[in-house]
Amino acid sequence: MTILTRFAPSPTGRLHVGNIRTALHNWMFARANGGRFVLRIDDTDPERSEERFVDAIRADLDWLGMTPDAEERQSARFALYEARFAALAESGHVYPAYETTQELDLKRKIQAGRGLPPIYDRAALALSDADRAKLEADGVRPHWRFKLDHDAPIAWDDLIRGPQAFDARTMSDPVVRRADGSWLYMLPSAIDDAEMRVSHVVRGEDHVSNTALQLQMFDALGVTPPRFAHEALLTGAEGKLSKRLGSLGVDHFRDVGIELQAVRALLARIGTSDPVEPIADAAPLIAGFDFARFGRAPARFDEAELAQLNARILHTLDYATVADRVPAGMGEAEWAAVRPNLAIVADAADWWQVIEGPVPVDADLDAAYLDQAVTIAAEIDWTGDPWHALTGRLKDATGRKGKALFLPLRRALTGRDHGPEMAALLPLIGRDRALARLRQR
Ligand code: GLU
Repeated sequence: MTILTRFAPSPTGRLHVGNIRTALHNWMFARANGGRFVLRIDDTDPERSEERFVDAIRADLDWLGMTPDAEERQSARFALYEARFAALAESGHVYPAYETTQELDLKRKIQAGRGLPPIYDRAALALSDADRAKLEADGVRPHWRFKLDHDAPIAWDDLIRGPQAFDARTMSDPVVRRADGSWLYMLPSAIDDAEMRVSHVVRGEDHVSNTALQLQMFDALGVTPPRFAHEALLTGAEGKLSKRLGSLGVDHFRDVGIELQAVRALLARIGTSDPVEPIADAAPLIAGFDFARFGRAPARFDEAELAQLNARILHTLDYATVADRVPAGMGEAEWAAVRPNLAIVADAADWWQVIEGPVPVDADLDAAYLDQAVTIAAEIDWTGDPWHALTGRLKDATGRKGKALFLPLRRALTGRDHGPEMAALLPLIGRDRALARLRQR
């Protein structure tokens, strides 16, 4: 079987972290199985779809390193939907219904009053040709429903949720087309999944009942359905569906200095039985990708966890990965020296300032001690390991050790009392700047 997954956003807004996670899993599953990953823009609704969101979706996927192998747009496929719909109407799988929204509301109220579930009563199926002709003559345009087969069991083995079963009698015949001819999501999606030969539909568990309906659509279309994987939804750190998640997307992550690798490593693993680990490369994440490891409990997304993971991943990123974002002039050695102290790449500017200077003067430092440091610093070999040469000789000369030995030097040389390893920093500060800083009073 050729593996083909699709990520099918509606371009009615920016991708948020929940969509990004779904896209990632589609991408990873395709990559793990030598398959293809398609971006399908679900833009059947011209009112709500916007081109700027299509562009943003593409850009977000690119930023995350998940460039699709192909792109399809539902708005370019209306002729196909029309043809399949005509065939389904011909075979009686879709039927016209004429109730207004108010009439349907009233039916549901009556059902509720009798303690019955709000299932469509199929009154439209009882209309005669003459009834329909009269309604149409009165200017009533029908919407269209898909006729569920009440006798066919609905079942599938979900790759995450395991065996699933539904009874068509407990569901309303879904409306697939509005009276104005526009499409609802359900049927075009099933037609596309069939035509594009999607092998695996990976989406949120909010689509589980849609899948039950769509399985009958695949049957009606005469095709074998894809496999399904419905993932548990994402919740905020507090365990609830959070509004904030809906506003967190690539722009936000970029703004606060989160690396794509951190987003990927976190979203690949939350909600699974595998630990979240600072894995910067996609390959090992992809190699270990398995729906069997996904749990059914909601996946918790915690921004604080993302920030921590970002720092840990940053500490492993090589210079080439960040070269275009570090301060001008900062080279590989400087990056290697400051990298362990960064939470985000932008913090590198602070340490670049420490290397380049000027650094603030600490007037409280012991002048006599610093005078000894100046003398020794002028004599040592700066091509080797100046920090150990300097502190070794100062220790012998003064008897100081530990904090008393190191901290005044760090303060004088960097203007701070913490930071990257002095052994890595001092050669970068260099002899001239170091001597000048030790002399500053
Ligand atoms: N456009 C649909 C959505 O965003 C696609 C769902 C699906 O993956 O089939 O919910």
